Amino acid sequence: MTRRSPRLALGLATVLIVCAASLAAAAPQTMRVDFYHSGNDKEERFSLDRVVVEPLPWPGNPTRSVDATNRGKYFFEIADATTGRVLYSRGFSSIYGEWETTAEAQTMNRTFSESLRFPSVDRRATITVRKRNATNQFVDAWTFSFDPTNKFVEKGVRVPAGALIALHDAGTPEEKLDLLILGDGYTAAERGKFERDARRLTQVLFATSPFRERERDINVWGLVPPATQSGISRPSQGLFRRSPVGATYDAFDSERYILTFENKAFRDLAANAPYDVVEILTNTDTYGGGGIFNLFSTAAASNLWAPYLFIHEFGHHLAGLADEYYTSDVAYLPATDRVEPWEPNVTALKDPSAFKWKDLVTPGTALPTPWPRTEFEEYTREIQARRRTLRAQNRPEADMNVLFREELARDTTLLNTGSHAGRVGAFEGANYEARGYYRPQADCIMFTRDEVGFCAVCRRAIAEIVDLYSAH
Ligand SMILES: [Zn+2]
Repeated sequence: MTRRSPRLALGLATVLIVCAASLAAAAPQTMRVDFYHSGNDKEERFSLDRVVVEPLPWPGNPTRSVDATNRGKYFFEIADATTGRVLYSRGFSSIYGEWETTAEAQTMNRTFSESLRFPSVDRRATITVRKRNATNQFVDAWTFSFDPTNKFVEKGVRVPAGALIALHDAGTPEEKLDLLILGDGYTAAERGKFERDARRLTQVLFATSPFRERERDINVWGLVPPATQSGISRPSQGLFRRSPVGATYDAFDSERYILTFENKAFRDLAANAPYDVVEILTNTDTYGGGGIFNLFSTAAASNLWAPYLFIHEFGHHLAGLADEYYTSDVAYLPATDRVEPWEPNVTALKDPSAFKWKDLVTPGTALPTPWPRTEFEEYTREIQARRRTLRAQNRPEADMNVLFREELARDTTLLNTGSHAGRVGAFEGANYEARGYYRPQADCIMFTRDEVGFCAVCRRAIAEIVDLYSAH
């Protein structure tokens, strides 16, 4: 006994040391580079703002540090400055990247704040940001090196955002995709409403494939920093708020487009949760939302169509899905030629014998795939005109809901009956263009508000990103 005890004690100590070492290795801090992205439609410039160590450990999957999914208009990589070894990389899109395609960018310069987040580094590192060129290949756009031991690296700051709510706890953040639902425009007295909104939409998420099948791989968190006034800005109605997250309607002068341009406020509040992706819920009832790949998505929580907005916009944000619709008013200028888009769910179909979802095409389906497009376009144009009139007359949201219900009934019937229904093929009309871009199925939540969920190609594209953040 006396001879064995020291060995046992030593054994325990070894186990404890190994545990401590593996814990330390499993949980680096979360580091963030804030920068400014400026320019116009012809030139752009990146400039460093600050480097921050966020209060919580890195929530990403340590076994999937390098991103090979080829999503996003931009891509960043952080490498050891001495050895050149890549430590972390991710594709992303940005507000700047959308803005530079609007008419405004042809007439003026603007600046947007952006951030890069990655597991903390302890020695000099080089960050490279790449951007897609005219043929959608990534080329270097900005490179800089920084020393994480520099005294100006901000540490130990936490901007309060209220108590963290575990809406769906599947396990350790490093092993799960962590979705943060961040409330904006909720007063302290409306905290209960936020919780109800967030729980209701979390249920919608897990009722939707492929999230339903991946429930055990996804955590959902809630934060709601109290607003001094209820609601968010809506400039087209002369309504302005300094809401905590800064969400606003009328982004790029599109009345239904909700974004926040207050990136640093958004990041500092979100840093109170372990998060990989964020959906901003706005305490508003006017129809609206938005979603940018690897930045955030937004949805108006009190609108009748909140379940659709929440899921559709999350598809943009999480998986870089393109809009499959092409008839609604958008702020972007048409692409002059048809380069193959990087988004997984739209194609220019340059070669019908080999394109990105060829393996999912329903056997015996013609490419391109015939569908009743003339009828669809005629009534959709009519509904768009009535929609513009309702907004111009400032009619109540209930009138818009009646119109959208009518559209839903017509879409559901036309797109989900007949020989084209349910097939995977290549349906012309997608990505804001009536001609030259194709979508995978006649109907999908990225195309209409119908209750059809995601098409097979979108489901696969989402599952690939869930895999990137969850270990299973
Ligand atoms: Zn789809």
